[in-house]
Amino acid sequence: VRGMDLLKDAHQNKGMCFTLKERQLLGLQGLLPPNIITQDQQVYFVMQNFYRWDNDLDRFIYMMSLQDRNERLFYRTIMQNVELMMPIIYTPTVGQACLKYGLTLRKPRGLYITIHDLGHVYDILCNWYIDDIKTIVVTDGERILGLGDLGAYGMGIPIGKLSLYTALAGMQPHQCLPIVLDVGTDNETLMKDPLYIGLKQKRERGPKYDALLDELMSAVVKKYGSNCLVQFEDFGNHNAFRLLEKYRNSYCTFNDDIQGTASVAVAGLLASLKITGKSLLENKFVFQGAGEASIGIAKLLIMALIELGANEEQAYSRIWMVDSRGLIVKNRPAGGVTGQKIPFAQDHEPIDKLEDVIKQIKPTAIIGAAAQPGAFTETILRDMAEFNEHPIIFALSNPTSKAECTAKQAYVATKGKCVFASGSPFKAVTIDGKTFHPGQGNNAYVFPAVGLATVACDIRTIPESIFLESAKALANMVTKEHLAEGRVYPPLADIRKVSTDIAVYLAQYAFKENLAFHYPEPTDKRHFIESHQYQIDYEEYIPPLYDWPGHSTKL
Ligand code: NAP
Ligand code: MN
Repeated sequence: VRGMDLLKDAHQNKGMCFTLKERQLLGLQGLLPPNIITQDQQVYFVMQNFYRWDNDLDRFIYMMSLQDRNERLFYRTIMQNVELMMPIIYTPTVGQACLKYGLTLRKPRGLYITIHDLGHVYDILCNWYIDDIKTIVVTDGERILGLGDLGAYGMGIPIGKLSLYTALAGMQPHQCLPIVLDVGTDNETLMKDPLYIGLKQKRERGPKYDALLDELMSAVVKKYGSNCLVQFEDFGNHNAFRLLEKYRNSYCTFNDDIQGTASVAVAGLLASLKITGKSLLENKFVFQGAGEASIGIAKLLIMALIELGANEEQAYSRIWMVDSRGLIVKNRPAGGVTGQKIPFAQDHEPIDKLEDVIKQIKPTAIIGAAAQPGAFTETILRDMAEFNEHPIIFALSNPTSKAECTAKQAYVATKGKCVFASGSPFKAVTIDGKTFHPGQGNNAYVFPAVGLATVACDIRTIPESIFLESAKALANMVTKEHLAEGRVYPPLADIRKVSTDIAVYLAQYAFKENLAFHYPEPTDKRHFIESHQYQIDYEEYIPPLYDWPGHSTKL
């Protein structure tokens, strides 16, 4: 490509950074303003534009159009301003964008595969303009963040998530493919909305739904090979668990809402132990909520406890769960306990209220993931501080408005004794002259690294141990200095380095455990991982020129 076509190709466009030689040789002379600038000046331009907007949704739209215009500049800007950009290109702003997704659309991005395309999924994959896909993020839009069923508007999530795969772990952007499966929506508001972009029909929940998913998985293997990662995102609870169990042993797949969340939360818990001075085995966990997040975390904790020497019974005895019907117990009346919750039902009298559960069970840690704001009352927080020298309080529900308690409430009620982490970011809190930096249990600490390691090492199926190993690696990156500030995660500003380090660690693990199909085994795993990472420096488009000896070019 040259001339105007080159400027219109987001993968290759360099804007005002094209050199004079490039401008002349590639037919660009006169198409660009005469000033030739550096990449850092270009990022400065972007940031000036970014600040001009007075709301985050406009900033989101601006960044998306930058992605459509100049991909390398988009990623360079994000990587150099991670803390500022994460809440824009991902939660919470991406949530706002999904609610109005039809209005934010500028250029088509990602594939829409509908329930009516059954039998033609492979053909649709062939319509995508790149054949070399290594990572897919797919959603059916049923449970977008904490916002519920957004149908085809859910497309914002796979796009945003894949941007983080590139920005944080360096996955090659052209090898990433966002997919929405549009099987309808049960959201009445969207159905009535003339601007809604998806199928206006009730969600398909029968055998056709399963057929579409089966077809997608086999079409992906046929088109891209069995090592193409398919990450499931924001499916409804029932389908999320069911599809993970169905596909995890035969396809390269994971579910970030279940497994990624688990890894990040367990990492935070492992790091907390360095503050409480206890072994994992000495803890008792109460979960508020027994959904994708809680069950995922609890299962990974069981694995960690067993690895430390507990037997199954001992491990399960450490974990107590509360759902919308109270404490999950074996003799629960009417309806009983079903599905994923069954192994966690305790031999205990039913207790309805969380406050009473805490008083009776006296846990060392409480983990909230039920999207019930304020669930961690002052009484609960005080009781936790009474039962424990350093109670562990994780308020994981997103967005901020759904948090079980704020960071300040937790630190104040426990007189600064608690170890606190949340799903959405909270500002630092100062009490009695001491400043605490609450940890943010952001999934983005883990999923990009898992994706990069999987693709680079050619891992074909992803065992649960990958997520426990990631948790250990992440917890090991929390330093004494971080702990002294109350942090149980490394600062978000370091997330790019954290992702690379976890990916290197996972590469070592994968080859040691014979999970990696890449051959031959690279000796230097760091070099190997880094060699797969996307570079944010522009490439030189003029090839190096050289002469042959005079006699061989004589006419
Ligand atoms: P989910 O699968 O729908 O599960 C929600 C759970 O909450 C269900 O078990 C439900 O009980 C329970 N619940 C509802 N009302 C309750 C009440 N009044 N008291 C006790 N439990 C109640 O959702 P999810 O995927 O686990 O997500 C839950 C929350 O966690 C969301 O806010 C999400 O944003 C957040 N999350 C955070 C992170 C993170 O911080 N990294 C990651 C993932 C999710 P029933 O089973 O009885 O219906
Ligand atoms: Mn999610």
